[in-house]
Formats: sequence, structure tokens, C-alpha cells
Amino acid sequence: MSTRKPATIAVRTGIESDTQHHAVVPPIYLSTNYGFPAFGEVPKYDYTRSGNPNRGLLETALYELESGTGAVVTNCGTSALNLWVSAFLGPDDLIIAPHDCYGGTYRLFNTRANKGDFKVRFVDQSDQTAFADALAQKPKLILLETPSNPLVRVVDIADVCAKAKQVGALVAVDNTFLTPIFQKPLELGADFVIHSTTKYINGHSDVIGGVVITKSEQHAEELAWWGNCIGATGTPFDSYMTLRGIRTLGARMKVHEESSKQILSFLQTQDLVGKIYHPSLPQHPGHEIAKKQQTGFGSMLSFEFAGSFEQLKFFVGQLELFSLAESLGGVESLICHPASMTHRAMGEAALAEAGVSQQLLRLSVGLEDAEDLVADLAQAFAKAKESF
Ligand SMILES: *Cc1c(COP(=O)(O)O)cnc(C)c1O
Repeated sequence: MSTRKPATIAVRTGIESDTQHHAVVPPIYLSTNYGFPAFGEVPKYDYTRSGNPNRGLLETALYELESGTGAVVTNCGTSALNLWVSAFLGPDDLIIAPHDCYGGTYRLFNTRANKGDFKVRFVDQSDQTAFADALAQKPKLILLETPSNPLVRVVDIADVCAKAKQVGALVAVDNTFLTPIFQKPLELGADFVIHSTTKYINGHSDVIGGVVITKSEQHAEELAWWGNCIGATGTPFDSYMTLRGIRTLGARMKVHEESSKQILSFLQTQDLVGKIYHPSLPQHPGHEIAKKQQTGFGSMLSFEFAGSFEQLKFFVGQLELFSLAESLGGVESLICHPASMTHRAMGEAALAEAGVSQQLLRLSVGLEDAEDLVADLAQAFAKAKESF
């Protein structure tokens, strides 16, 4: 395991590894197949679905960043989750997932459970009684997503992992929102880390990808076997691009975090801003746990717009530096209205239960200059006030 700091691992993995021309940056291997040196001699890579040098380097970077021992890079975050459940669940096995998990994760688990592939229970993991009740049913797998989307609820990873061990369950943490720069679930007792690398890991909103990272070598082998079996693995070009994105992960996360602080202080001064959701705020219910298990609070935040719904729509339309779009974690700042965008498939009742109101807006704070971002929000709030 590397003892180097994450930013160093992110920059250096695979640098100067080319033995043919001594290219400093590892070259891209698009070839689908590789020659056998001699009859019966199987090379390290033979066919790209099962292995490729670019995907291999990305896997190394990712498991070293998360202090794991192995990883399988997949073609998207959803297929990473699908790979994980395919490898470890049978028809009689139960998985516990958060009631407010990523919408695509909910759809995947629910649909496959309805087909009889496995059993699933969606539980409010911050509700101790509900969680203990679910644990009593002896789940095989537990998925955590902390902080959650869009209300950035925080779950105590070490506590859940300790309880899971007692019933023999394996725990995975979807670490998409914080990345290993701010949270290392394997060090807190988790068995797997899953990412949608589409978000902060690649960081430039131009590659869809995912990964399952393991603590044990045996799990890594099982997942690699399953990744090849069901064809879930990522392409060489996407792997190359994602490793290129990772080079700046340490630097990017610092600026994301710093700018979020400035935006949060500004939002707190605005009359058109109601409740703000971010784990850095002392009144946030997960603040103490976040301080304990995270080394940064992250740059995803939500707030209730305190004007009318018409005013909210007008405000969003006035913004010049926050694009109205789904996804998150890229260099560009985004604003999202979860009820009509990312979470629209949930229906009114489920939205209400998850606490996602029509007034809720979510920001993914990007890497533009923070003063410009604050000025942009300020002008849009001012216009929203004048015009109504
Ligand atoms: C985006 C996302 C996913 C799904 O990843 P894709 O790359 O879109 O398939 C899973 N979990 C979280 C937390 C996400 O934000």
C-alpha cells in the first residue's frame, strides 16, 4: 500500500511507466487484442474486456487513493453498482440500501429485486431503530451513500461497519460526493468503495465511468471475474481520460471546498435563502459525524429558496455562471432543481418522504473564481427581488 499522500498518488500513478519510448505520460492502448508470445503462453493482457493497460493504471490509481488492494473500472457508476450486486447476491440474499440513495441506484436494485434476482430493503440509515430492524434480517450486503443527495445527510460509516460485522454483512460506501481526498471508507471499516467516476474523480464532465474498489484481494478477483463475465468493464479511452482527470484531483477538491465556504457565507446573508443544507454548518444534524470521518465537507450544497416558485424560476434564469443541468463534480458550476430534474422520477409522495421540496435548489460549486460565483448569485438574487 502506498504511504504517499492522495494528491501525489493522483499525479504520479503510471508516470514514466512506458518502457518502449520512455513517454512521461503513459500512452493509450486502443487495441482490442494482444499477441500471445508463444503457443500456450498467455500474456498479461489478451483481450480488452478482461484487461487493458490504461484501465489497469486507472484501477491502480483508484485503489491506492482509497487504500484498497484491488479495483474494477466499469463503464459507468451504475454498472459498478450492478457488478457489485451481481457478484455477491443470490435470490435469497438481502441488500440494505439508503431510502434516499441515488435515483438510478434505487431503480436498479428495485427492478432487479422485482425480477427475483435478490431481495432489497430501503432504509433510513440515520434512524437507529429502522436500521437495527433491517440488520436483524441478516443482510448479505449494505450500501451507504454519505453524504446523500440532495440533502447531504451524513451516516456514521465506522458505526454501521461495526454493526454489519456482527451479522456478517459486507459494506460498500458510495464515495462519489467526497472522493478519497475527503473520505476514506475502507479505513473506517468498509469492505468496498464505489464511485461514479463521472463526477469529481474525472472532474471535467466529459467521461461516464465507475469503479468498485475492494479491501480484500479475494473480493478483487471475484469482481474482476464478474466484470469480464457480464461485460461491465470500462473502455481504454475513457480510462485514459479519467486518469488524466485524476491528475488534478487533489488541487481541484481544495478549490471546490474553499469556494463552497465563500458561497455558504454569502448565502447565509440572503433573505431569499431559507434553510441551507451542508455538513459544515454546525446546525446540520450530521455535522459532528462529518467532522469525525471526513477531512473536508465537500462542495455539494442545497438550500430552500425563500421566495415564490415563480421567483425561484426567474432567479435560476438570471444566473450566468451556474448552468441549469444535472450531474455534479465538474469544473463548471451547476444549479439543479432536484424535484423537476434529478429526482423527478420519484413522484410526489416519495419526494416528500425524502424531504425534497419544490423550493429546493442544489449547487455543485465549480472551479470558476469564487468572487465571480458570489457576484453572479448576488446579481440574480437582486434581480429576483426587484422584479417581484
Ligand atoms: C451519478 C451517480 C451514480 C451513477 O453513476 P453513473 O456514472 O451516472 O452511472 C451513482 N451514485 C451517485 C452518488 C451518483 O452521483
